[in-house]
Amino acid sequence: MDVTEWTHERRQSRQIHVGNVPVGGGAPITVQSMTITKTADVEGTLQQIYALAAAGCDIVRCTCNEQEAAEGLAQIVPRSPIPVIADIHHQYKMALAAMEAGVHGLRLNPGNIRRPEHIKAVASEARDRGLPIRIGVNAGSLDPALYDKYGGATPEAMVESALQEIAYFHEVDFDLIKISVKASSVPLMVEAYRQLSEVTDHPLHLGVTEAGPPPAGLIKATAGIATLLMEGIGDTIRYSLTADPVEEARAGRQLLEALGLRERKNIDLIACPSCGRAEIDVIDVANRAMQAFGDRKIPLQVAVMGCVVNGPGEAREADIGIAAGNKRGHLFVKGRNVAVVPESEMVEALVEWAEFIHEHGAEAAIARVDTALAEREAAKDRSTLLDAQGDDANHANEKIVEIRKTVNG
Ligand code: SF4
Repeated sequence: MDVTEWTHERRQSRQIHVGNVPVGGGAPITVQSMTITKTADVEGTLQQIYALAAAGCDIVRCTCNEQEAAEGLAQIVPRSPIPVIADIHHQYKMALAAMEAGVHGLRLNPGNIRRPEHIKAVASEARDRGLPIRIGVNAGSLDPALYDKYGGATPEAMVESALQEIAYFHEVDFDLIKISVKASSVPLMVEAYRQLSEVTDHPLHLGVTEAGPPPAGLIKATAGIATLLMEGIGDTIRYSLTADPVEEARAGRQLLEALGLRERKNIDLIACPSCGRAEIDVIDVANRAMQAFGDRKIPLQVAVMGCVVNGPGEAREADIGIAAGNKRGHLFVKGRNVAVVPESEMVEALVEWAEFIHEHGAEAAIARVDTALAEREAAKDRSTLLDAQGDDANHANEKIVEIRKTVNG
């Protein structure tokens, strides 16, 4: 079995479309995020939407909390590179206004819009326009009646909230539905989604709400979302981070790529953890490389390795990599040394070579240089380092001696 490929069977869900983006029914899992500008600020919101799209966001949500926001949406939607969903909380009229503005979908919080006639008015209009609605249940704003019935925001209460909303939608023949049952507690949201996936085949939007700032927020969101994705549950995802939303989009995209659920779009940067052999500050070079590649569409695996003694071998599966050695950077392609550059130019060289490989392939990159010369230079630096550091730069042998003394007395 090729364990790098995804093997888990996905839950079968119906398909809806948010603008031109399919969700559910075997479509690629999509990444969502939400703008944090005032929606009335058209230029500012569009700038953020473009940045989100560049970072891998497929669908964006903007709040529609007042008339000025709806008016802003009317100008934003035609200029947005990705479909726009209006986020509606308390005022059903804002949902009607957002549809008038031309949005591609709505998110309604059933805990905040509770009058059946209002829910049905919105669903009827969405039905006539062929627009999807996400039923966005949130543990923190559950309908008080359900909270009392279940003695708290339990998974059962959250699922019932979603089912109640679906029932209202069905009364007016509306079923372009996706659902989320988010909570800030990972075990609670995981269980709520599991239960929901058993009772409906509508597509599911996954998220851990109010996950907080990174890195804790990233960990919480990943724990919840990845757990469900690994079980085959989920059709679209959002990281809710207390951070620049571009971080949310990147995280979502990276998670899907890491799980093999989306094709790689940007680089996959791997870096050695560094050790006694490191010739450079690996963290600094890796961060600088990450920044230099930015959101460039180069779907290669790029390695940043601390030393030329072991780096090219340890990262021989990478498409391209750089290893430090004796104040020089050694570039390698598929484990083959191809060039030596001054340490200060390592990152620029890495980007330039990656672009070449992306365009012409690894074979062409290897063919354009004298690899024997590069290998000789690498061997020279390798032996200089070995002479200087010995072959036990991490003092592992000393530790082994101590371990043996400890164990054997
Ligand atoms: S041996 Fe070299 S490449 Fe491997 S972890 Fe140490 S510094 Fe990094």
